Amino acid sequence: MQVLRDVLEKAQRDGVGVGHFNIGDFVILRAVFASAQDLKVPVLVGVSEGERKFLGTRQIAALVKSLRDEFDFPIFLNADHTHSLASAIEAAKAGFDSIVFDLSALPFEQNIRQTKEAIEALKGINPAILVEGEIGDIGTGSEIHDAAPDLSKGLTSPEEAKQYVDATGVDILAPAVGNMHGMLASMVQGTTKKHLDIARIAQIKSATGVFMTLHGGSGTEDEDFRKAIAAGINVVHINTELRVAWRRGLERGLANHPNEVVPYKILPDAFEAIKEVATSRLKLFNSAK
Ligand SMILES: [Zn+2]
Repeated sequence: MQVLRDVLEKAQRDGVGVGHFNIGDFVILRAVFASAQDLKVPVLVGVSEGERKFLGTRQIAALVKSLRDEFDFPIFLNADHTHSLASAIEAAKAGFDSIVFDLSALPFEQNIRQTKEAIEALKGINPAILVEGEIGDIGTGSEIHDAAPDLSKGLTSPEEAKQYVDATGVDILAPAVGNMHGMLASMVQGTTKKHLDIARIAQIKSATGVFMTLHGGSGTEDEDFRKAIAAGINVVHINTELRVAWRRGLERGLANHPNEVVPYKILPDAFEAIKEVATSRLKLFNSAK
């Protein structure tokens, strides 16, 4: 069975992106997995600290491992936005394939020092684990926001990216390149889209040479995704779009079965809605130019 590093190296060679989807419940996990299976593409699923608290860190690791083993399929598990070493260690011990160690809210030097320490501790638990570090400001909360935050001052520069990667030794870098967590209501309606700083992505890639993740991908223009991947993005995170699909699908399931109480008769509507979004995103990310 491949490890995540092999999958990212192959994606880089092929000029495609690996889709990363947050899984807030079992229905989302099944729907994302079904999409990846249909398309025969590797997939990353992630759980934030909040999602881990709700689902159980070891329990979600066991579920993902069972899919990987039973179907001999390249599905990998990421500990998304982890803010403390203790919770990073918990995820590493549970068998996660990668960890986003996110101290981007701290001063730069402190982020570097503590990320370096975390990498040593985490690789001591599992040498194959990939650690992703983050610099810059991409906002918080994969939710629907009333107003766009001003993230222009928090964009990552190629110089600080190089300094950060050299000093920490992170495997993967999450830069701020015009991306933003969450979506505006107009993006959910489809009347506005996010746009990315493609030149900045290319400059950061050539300065650092590391794998790069695009967080907050929901609501981004399709063409920007293609260009971002061509410029050096290896992993693309989609969360809010799936959450919107989950809610709409759930509401449809409840409306279609007003007197039903059997979960497996209501939830297929949510499954289908999520699968449709995941499939369209995976198709886009995996279509090399
Ligand atoms: Zn993120």
